[in-house]
Amino acid sequence: MIPGIQDKKERLVGLVDCNNFFVSCERTVDPRLEGRAVVVLSNNDGCVVARSNEAKGMGIRMGQPAFEIRDHISAGRLIALSGNHLLYREISIRIHDIFRRFAPATADYSVDEAFLDMEGIPSTNLRAIGEAIVKACYDEEHIPVTIGFAPSKTLAKVATEVGKKQGERVILLMEESQWLPLLEKLPVSDIWGIGRRIAKRLYGESIYTAAQFAALPAIRIRKELGITGERTWRELHGESCIELSHLERPLQDSISETRTFPEDIDDYDYLRARIALYCAHVGKRMRSQGGQCGEISVFLRTNRFHTERGYYAPTASGRFDPPVSDTPSLTSRAVKLLEQIYHPGIGYKRAGVILSRITPICNVAPSLFEEIEDENQRRRKALQLMKAIDSLNRNPRKQTIQLASQLSIRHLGHNDGYSSSFGPAKEI
Ligand SMILES: [Mg+2]
Repeated sequence: MIPGIQDKKERLVGLVDCNNFFVSCERTVDPRLEGRAVVVLSNNDGCVVARSNEAKGMGIRMGQPAFEIRDHISAGRLIALSGNHLLYREISIRIHDIFRRFAPATADYSVDEAFLDMEGIPSTNLRAIGEAIVKACYDEEHIPVTIGFAPSKTLAKVATEVGKKQGERVILLMEESQWLPLLEKLPVSDIWGIGRRIAKRLYGESIYTAAQFAALPAIRIRKELGITGERTWRELHGESCIELSHLERPLQDSISETRTFPEDIDDYDYLRARIALYCAHVGKRMRSQGGQCGEISVFLRTNRFHTERGYYAPTASGRFDPPVSDTPSLTSRAVKLLEQIYHPGIGYKRAGVILSRITPICNVAPSLFEEIEDENQRRRKALQLMKAIDSLNRNPRKQTIQLASQLSIRHLGHNDGYSSSFGPAKEI
């Protein structure tokens, strides 16, 4: 035990991470990919952004350019897919909902990772809880996940990475004697929170492993790396001291809301009202994070089992320049996008709205052609109005103020979870 930190409060943290997330999502819609070497390529199909274990086994690297794996693909040894980010976002929302069922508090860290605050839960129960999460994610969403529990977030990250490498789904690191041997094998650059620049400096001082880093005197860490470095050092000694607010976390890169209807819907007015409602929800969530978006997408999905009509899954997107954050702007654009993709006589099973290109609201990058003064004034007014509406609508069950476009929902009898009560918005 390291002197000076014996009195730490027992507080265990979990990190749950989806394995090979994009590939696992692709396998949920195409079971033929199971057991095959699969990679997902970046947006312009330029490089590898996700790999199945089989592809990892072939030596395919993260970020490897597509032209380097061409021979494997043409020989049929490797399947390369273009990313379907809409699918990944939909599954991400549902998988984070599962995490929330098993922990007193959770913090979404990325599209496929969340920290679970297990404070107050006896450590003897953690393995069973971890196994229940693994089972629920696989049974309900067919997504394999790995969970590490440890006294700090940094050690929970270590646990999860080790679990993924060893093929163990639940890893517990409770004692220093359990994590020290792992830190000896962990390159200092792989410690969560140690950036490339700091790692380079440490290499210069012959510090190569996490164990060597942890063995440095605290006073030297604080002097050379400041409070952030010291927090990481303390976390490696089992002291929980990194809060998510300490991390420079960018805003969510997208915010979405998707619903499945209990029956196929072809009524345009009903769909328009739903889209308007989703706009109100995602807009509110974006503003609560201090964000504005530069792009909005609307999508419709038919029931994929209605084979006589075929599967119709259109998406339409539009840009905002400058970015916007107010619900009326989001809604009027979303309704125009809906008009583009809606065809009468087709029954739709799902619909959703996605906001993307999200930036902090204070960093207004004025468009070249913008009448800056007028526009700023208009936006200030729109923002003030939305703030007032958000504060009146603080109770999610009682939407005091709605836009007229949301209202026609109430006159239509369909129930997809919103008709009688307006549930709280969901996070990605
Ligand atoms: Mg992952």
